[in-house]
Amino acid sequence: MAKEGHKYIFVLGGVMSGVGKGVVTSSIGLLLQQKGYPVNLVKVDPYLNVDAGTMNPTEHGETFVLKSGLETDQDMGNYERFLDRDLTDEDYMTSGMVYQSVITRERSLEYGGKCVEAIPHVRDEILKRIEAAAAENGGRVSVIEIGGTIGDFQNALFIDAARVMKMRYPDDVIFVMVSYLPVPGTLGEMKTKPTQSAVRALNSYGIQPDFIVARSTHAVDEKRKEKLAIQCSVRTDRVISAPDIKSIYEVPLNLEKDHLGDELLDALKLPEKRKTSLAAWRKFATAALNTKAPEVKIAIVGKYFDTGDFVLSDAYLSIIEAIKFSAAKLGRQPKITWVNAKNIEKGDKKTLAELASYQGIIVPGGFGETGIEGKIKAIQFAREHKIPYFGLCYGMQLMVIEYARNVLKLKNAHTTEIQKNSEDPVVDIMLEQKKHLSDKTYGGTMRLGSYPCYLKKGTIARNAYKKEMVDERHRHRYEINPAYVKKLEDAGLVFSGTSPDSILMEIAELPKSVHPFMLGTQFHPEFQARPLSPHPLFTEFLKAAIARKRRK
Ligand code: GLN
Repeated sequence: MAKEGHKYIFVLGGVMSGVGKGVVTSSIGLLLQQKGYPVNLVKVDPYLNVDAGTMNPTEHGETFVLKSGLETDQDMGNYERFLDRDLTDEDYMTSGMVYQSVITRERSLEYGGKCVEAIPHVRDEILKRIEAAAAENGGRVSVIEIGGTIGDFQNALFIDAARVMKMRYPDDVIFVMVSYLPVPGTLGEMKTKPTQSAVRALNSYGIQPDFIVARSTHAVDEKRKEKLAIQCSVRTDRVISAPDIKSIYEVPLNLEKDHLGDELLDALKLPEKRKTSLAAWRKFATAALNTKAPEVKIAIVGKYFDTGDFVLSDAYLSIIEAIKFSAAKLGRQPKITWVNAKNIEKGDKKTLAELASYQGIIVPGGFGETGIEGKIKAIQFAREHKIPYFGLCYGMQLMVIEYARNVLKLKNAHTTEIQKNSEDPVVDIMLEQKKHLSDKTYGGTMRLGSYPCYLKKGTIARNAYKKEMVDERHRHRYEINPAYVKKLEDAGLVFSGTSPDSILMEIAELPKSVHPFMLGTQFHPEFQARPLSPHPLFTEFLKAAIARKRRK
């Protein structure tokens, strides 16, 4: 059941996708939270995957992992970063998840012999989940983003559920349509017609938007605001201008210029109009946007870049953001270059040699064989040339393999992910994972979510965190093989972070006396980096990068 007086804001997209609905949702959350109303943000993804864990990152961007271990859409990462708090399973749903619950219930006769149908049964399941998110997460307001665009066949049930919510709680539900206003080059004039049509389409679902967030290359002028207002039956002061800007972190500040926060409270009939306190956020956004700050040049050596003719950096979104937060804290502008590991693997010596021009190198998480020999070469280069190196998950496993091959002289050291019968399986499948692979139960079965990690005294990791125990989020099936730990340690590698029972190696590093910063984590620190609380390991890595002289 819903909480008494709980408020719901549904965010829907008009005209086209990819115009920043997720950022608007996150910004609404931040604005209301800064006015003293606890908020939870809910993402609805209309696809049939049960979670986002089974999709290739070039297909759908990064898979973001919640504390619980749920594998979600990257928007959930943005939500957490804006709210600076952890979200829960209730805050995320896909069509796959919804249908799976309904079908499981049908199989156990819970519908008592009824014909089970999209309406009402699937819709009821959606409603139940929206209300559960409201009840579980301590919010006063839920902001629910419905993925896709109005008129998409596949999000229709979710939009219909939103309509029913309005019928149930007429005073507590409002609708925000994030739309796009093109400025065709041939005309040089902003056009409102596509948005008018999108509102009509929404009307045909029985929904009238309360707000239009007008995304465009330019700010919306008064004349067009009035036109949209009269044509779409939305109050003029609730047509909010949202022009393109440099950074997503400016968006809440920009929306606030049109008083979005106060207008939302008014529409929701929330009595207290409190002043928005965005001081800390503003300070961060100003630092992040300071183009006068000196650069710090980082190379990310990965493989999920190319889709057709386009380069897709979304696959590594949380890493990019984590770098930005630490760089802003250190008063630097990050300059990130994508280096395709596949080229290094093919023997492209120039790309490898060029790594010397960076101040820091990251090898991010990944799966499978493509590009890994290229990544290992890049890691060797970073180690031998004393370039600060930060390995994330696969980047840590490959760092250990490189060390085993080139320092321990185990020439055939490998991971059993690639070489099943490796002579020296320095990285091996975790025991409990074996069955998942042989049964082909891949979805949601990795070692996922938050686990504690103990940090050894006197190490880079311990000094960075300034704590003995930390919790970090994971997503892997393989681990450093315990049989090789002693040998690796004897050869100089330090396992500075382990599971509390010392069985799983969570962080590997080289002592500062040997290398300025060579550290890898089995977990994904990037998932817990936030604008207002940058991640200590990213900050430490960047400090080492800044200390390395910039080269041309
Ligand atoms: N493929 C590796 C594993 O499954 C690393 C996973 C990752 O980088 N997220 O253990």
